[in-house]
Amino acid sequence: MLNPLSLLLVTVLSSAMAMAVLGSLRRAAIPGVGCWIAANALAIVALIAFSLQGHAPRWLTFVASNMLLAVSPLLVVAGCRRFLARPARPWVAYAGLAVLFAGLCYWTFAVPDFNARVTLVSVFHAILYAVLAVTLLRGRPLNRPCYSYYFLTVAAALLCAGHTLRGVMYGFGLLVQTNLMQVTPSNIIFLAIGVLAPPCLSIGVVMLAHDRLAERLERLANIDDLTGVLARRAFLKLGDVLLDASRQSGLPLALAIIDIDSFKAVNDRHGHAAGDQVLSHFATFVAAHLRDGDVLGRLGGEEFGVLCPATGAAEAVSLLDRLRARLTAATAAELPPGGLRYTFSVGVDQHRQDESLAQLMARADNALYAAKAAGRNRVMAATAQAA
Ligand code: GH3
Ligand code: MG
Ligand code: MG
Repeated sequence: MLNPLSLLLVTVLSSAMAMAVLGSLRRAAIPGVGCWIAANALAIVALIAFSLQGHAPRWLTFVASNMLLAVSPLLVVAGCRRFLARPARPWVAYAGLAVLFAGLCYWTFAVPDFNARVTLVSVFHAILYAVLAVTLLRGRPLNRPCYSYYFLTVAAALLCAGHTLRGVMYGFGLLVQTNLMQVTPSNIIFLAIGVLAPPCLSIGVVMLAHDRLAERLERLANIDDLTGVLARRAFLKLGDVLLDASRQSGLPLALAIIDIDSFKAVNDRHGHAAGDQVLSHFATFVAAHLRDGDVLGRLGGEEFGVLCPATGAAEAVSLLDRLRARLTAATAAELPPGGLRYTFSVGVDQHRQDESLAQLMARADNALYAAKAAGRNRVMAATAQAA
């Protein structure tokens, strides 16, 4: 039967299920999950306390229950801030809870007033849900799908609207009631909206957590662990996309293949760890000096690729040669730890009509070998080598 007690019971069960689902994500160490689990636990205790209205003391069923139910969405917001790596703002929360506590005590014990209590609680929740909606909208990533962020934003906005409407109706005396368990249509409707909150928020935060897991997997697949630049597969995939764009726009696309000189000797003389530091330094150094739109990837070992859209071979040669000269002239502080000096060689060419990325890479690779043969620490274009 649709009565307040059964609605509260359904919410208790759905919160328990949400805790079980969120519990499965604990091992993934996703920031915020602990807060979200605690939020559901508090909601369960609060709802049980609410359901005892008329059978237990008022401090428990009116004051403690409302306080716990207020802390629950506060924890959802705190979890989302943690998830988004935003600083916590506990003092704002404490101040809001203090006002809520004072109001609940006053309108429960000094001047008992159900409508005033409902209005106060509704305003508190409406503000919290508005904060949640804005936090998620602002924190949504710009470089990946944001479905889970929008889902939670919309859910929070609807809950904010529901609580605002409830606050207005009770605040202006349009609805009069004395007990939360009364079976009136308006009470049932507002309670139904209220009981939807924990499952909606839980589904939303579980989607957020799964999105974070997917992002981690994508990163593992696409980003080279040591250097932080695109891994070979992702670099080649992006290369195909840029090649298509170049065909359509008619603008040139240049490719540079870079190989660190005598890298084996670095490993042999200074150890593998020092070699790793050189690779990491090289990637950071090149990435810092490329232009917006240029793409750097690690093709394997000490070999890297740079794709330069809207750039001809000659321009790419001078870009890479400036880079090479900069590294040669770098001070000890700008070099890897210990001031370890190293050089690199580059082969460059630009895309020709109707050829594949593999063909372009093969020509740039030939130019790289020519640069090595010519003495290393130099940039050579494939066309110049052919000439
Ligand atoms: P060249 O100037 O002709 O390019 O000579 P090189 O010594 O740089 O080239 P070679 O292909 O002989 O050696 C490359 C070395 O790179 C061999 C390999 O052990 C080392 N290497 C490959 N991947 C890594 C890595 O991730 N870390 C470290 N430290 N070394 C690596
Ligand atoms: Mg090498
Ligand atoms: Mg090599």
